[in-house]
Amino acid sequence: MRNLSRGCYSGRNMQGIFSAWGRILTGYSPLLSIEITRECPLRCPGCYAYGDDHLGGDLTLREVRDFKGQALVDGVMALVDRHRPLHVSIVGGEPLVRYRELNTILPLLAARRIHVQLVTSAVREIPGEWRGIPRLSIVVSIDGLQPEHDARRTPATYDRVLRHIAGHSLTVHCTVTRQQVNRPGYIEEFLRFWSARGEIDKIWFSLYTPQLGEVSAERLKPIDRERVIADLLALRLRYPKLTVPQGAIEAYAEPPRSPDECVFARTTTTISADLTTKITPCQFGGAPDCENCGCLASAAFTAVARHQIFGIIPVGSIFTGSMKVGDRLRRMRPEPAPA
Ligand code: SF4
Ligand code: SF4
Repeated sequence: MRNLSRGCYSGRNMQGIFSAWGRILTGYSPLLSIEITRECPLRCPGCYAYGDDHLGGDLTLREVRDFKGQALVDGVMALVDRHRPLHVSIVGGEPLVRYRELNTILPLLAARRIHVQLVTSAVREIPGEWRGIPRLSIVVSIDGLQPEHDARRTPATYDRVLRHIAGHSLTVHCTVTRQQVNRPGYIEEFLRFWSARGEIDKIWFSLYTPQLGEVSAERLKPIDRERVIADLLALRLRYPKLTVPQGAIEAYAEPPRSPDECVFARTTTTISADLTTKITPCQFGGAPDCENCGCLASAAFTAVARHQIFGIIPVGSIFTGSMKVGDRLRRMRPEPAPA
């Protein structure tokens, strides 16, 4: 997913597409995202996970039941057995709140050859034993340069984050909000700072995704969006650690119009901290504004879907047909017991 650019697909990427295609044809989602805990010591403005409608309106993430200890380990592995994903995203809440359980879960997933992406604010030290785990990528969320980040993310301040990531190889992920685009050169300053850090292999950007009708300080105006897209297209040529593919950046200009058109949403199952509740239509929950979507994963999948095999067959139409076949097979399978 991460190395795709429009019109240029490596053999490894095609292999990934074919593996995912196989899962879809047999009625499984190739991607599973798990909110591993309801807890997070931070209170970031604009955090969708703690939005009132994230879980559909009855409960919020802070109110759902969640698990600890062996019950969490067993529950996560049961989910993985049931969904048989190729890739698991571990999000929160803050996953590091459950680092003891993850010390067990991450090697178990690696032993099953599953690719895992763990997204954290690095509010506490990332355990050293995670360094050698194969197929694990750790993504640290950073909300802009130090003054803005520290104001939004205390106690996960720049000083602490830098101490907590020492010795690891990580990706930095920044969600661009309106506050950041008000200052010219902001994205480049961010890239300069993080490109110089030895622990950082890759730098990714998403754009803030609002809910339908949302009025907020984070929401980008159309003109902001155009400027960010132009900046990213230019900056990726000068900062090699900015590995957002060209096709994905271009897809920010024309996101899917609805969840039905979103290949990422349709190929990902997202489960909340009770290990039961499905979050729909995508990881944002509620009623996300697809036409203003800035999700990097969705943009990368959109770029793949718009690619045309032999210049004539859009990959997206093959996926859509395959999903119909997979849906039929899934309906014929007996429903497994809850985790
Ligand atoms: S660290 Fe992440 S989960 Fe926690 S409040 Fe901030 S955005 Fe939300
Ligand atoms: S990821 Fe973006 S485009 Fe896809 S369903 Fe969610 S908001 Fe819509």
